[in-house]
Amino acid sequence: MIRTESSIRILGCRVDAVSRAEAVDRIVALAQGETPSLVVTLGVEMTMFAQRDTRFRNLVNGAALSICDTIGLLLASRARRGPLRERVTGVDLIDPLAERSAAHGDLRFFFFGGAPGVAERAAIALRNRYPGVAIVGTRDGYFAPGQSPTIVASIVASKANVLLVGLGSPKQEYWLEDYLAATKCGVGVGVGGSFDVVAGTVPRAPRVWRRAGLEWLYRLIRQPSRWRRQLALPRFVIAATREAIAHRGSRQP
Ligand code: UDP
Repeated sequence: MIRTESSIRILGCRVDAVSRAEAVDRIVALAQGETPSLVVTLGVEMTMFAQRDTRFRNLVNGAALSICDTIGLLLASRARRGPLRERVTGVDLIDPLAERSAAHGDLRFFFFGGAPGVAERAAIALRNRYPGVAIVGTRDGYFAPGQSPTIVASIVASKANVLLVGLGSPKQEYWLEDYLAATKCGVGVGVGGSFDVVAGTVPRAPRVWRRAGLEWLYRLIRQPSRWRRQLALPRFVIAATREAIAHRGSRQP
């Protein structure tokens, strides 16, 4: 497949410059493809994790598509006059993909992840919004490692071609790396807590907060237990600023 988008490497992780519409088109194309393709929605915490985990860094850099999921990556790209234009989250992808499935009938989804009942509630919400959308299976994200083959078998039986996995990162990407090929889905996308948002279990930050780049603060206030994970944010700012300065320096004659 021809790659049309440009990309940037931020702290060793490739991020592709795609708009929301382009990301949807790529996922539609990958869903029909022969080779199983992994799509990563990359955030700051994941980028920092990739600094110390080679398997994860290789996985991101080898993904069919690595999408900019957070404002931090967008700002880091802008500081280097890089190609990233917008932020596209897992939640941003689900609605247009569902709309496309309802209109064309060429996408069949399996939702895997979230607490018991959440993926099913997300499916019901989408079926109400997009009558005709093909969500052919759901499964919660709490399982013992030995259950993965059974989960794979139920995905195969569903004949899904788009597997959305919301187990949190890096669990969802590792699961996809290990099992996507066996599921026979053309594309697997790590979507984090998106099912919670689509199901209405966890509200999304209001638009003004998102526009101001403060979704992380909203999530921290709603779920204070995230503070430890969010320590990655200041570390990212320091590391990405250093990288931007080094990049400018290296471009001077
Ligand atoms: N989750 C899951 N299985 C697990 C751990 C987490 O299905 O073993 C789900 C959890 O219910 C939530 C999502 O994974 O829906 C993680 O959400 P979070 O907002 O932490 O994701 P991220 O910030 O990584 O996108």
